[in-house]
Order: sequence, then structure tokens, then C-alpha cells
Amino acid sequence: MQVSGIGCNFSCRGCISGIFTSNSRSVSGALKRIPPGKVVSKAVEEACEGIAFCLNEPLVSYYTFMGVAEAAKKEGLFTGISTNCYFTESAAHLLAQKIDFINIGFKGASDSRYR
Ligand code: SF4
Repeated sequence: MQVSGIGCNFSCRGCISGIFTSNSRSVSGALKRIPPGKVVSKAVEEACEGIAFCLNEPLVSYYTFMGVAEAAKKEGLFTGISTNCYFTESAAHLLAQKIDFINIGFKGASDSRYR
């Protein structure tokens, strides 16, 4: 099951996350606040193998994300993130204990573009 939140620590041109953030009023009707346990029970109900966090940067909602990851693990689901990987080494160590995969999106083909 694919889930997402709102927000990012980058602002890449054309990103759907940026559109959501800058137009949060227009999309607010489509947003739902769902506690971690309910996200996981929905994934189980839908016979999903795991939960992937994508569309925005999951780690801007670090504690929410970790809550879902922990609840998912208890149910035997895998968890992973699609991320810009802009976090500290210590955060990476904490993450590695909770998730099964990381998909890193590089935002340009040169160092200057990436910066
Ligand atoms: S890092 Fe990813 S989620 Fe964040 S603005 Fe860029 S493309 Fe969007």
C-alpha cells in the first residue's frame, strides 16, 4: 500500500508534493488524518505485502512515519520509503532498524543541480 503525507525539505520544480503544499486549501478535502494503527489495519485488510511511503518526503513527518513502520512490523508487513535522503547519518541508523528498503531519488545529474 502506498501512503504519503504533506511537505518536503526540498522544493523541486514540478513536484506534486510542492503543489500540495502550496495549495493545501484546494486539496484539504482529499486529505485524511489516519492514525498509524488504522493505516496498518487497512493494509492487512487489503492483503498488501507492505507499506511504501512516497509522493512527498516521508521524513518531514518522522515520528508519524516511525509509528506506522513500527505498527507495520508487528503485523509482519515490510515498509519502505522513497526519499531525497537528506538526513543525518544518525537518522539513517535509526531508519535502518525500522524499514526494509529505501529508494533514493537524485534530483539532478550534476552536483550544482543537486544542490
Ligand atoms: S525531494 Fe522529492 S518530494 Fe521533495 S520536492 Fe523534490 S521531488 Fe518533490
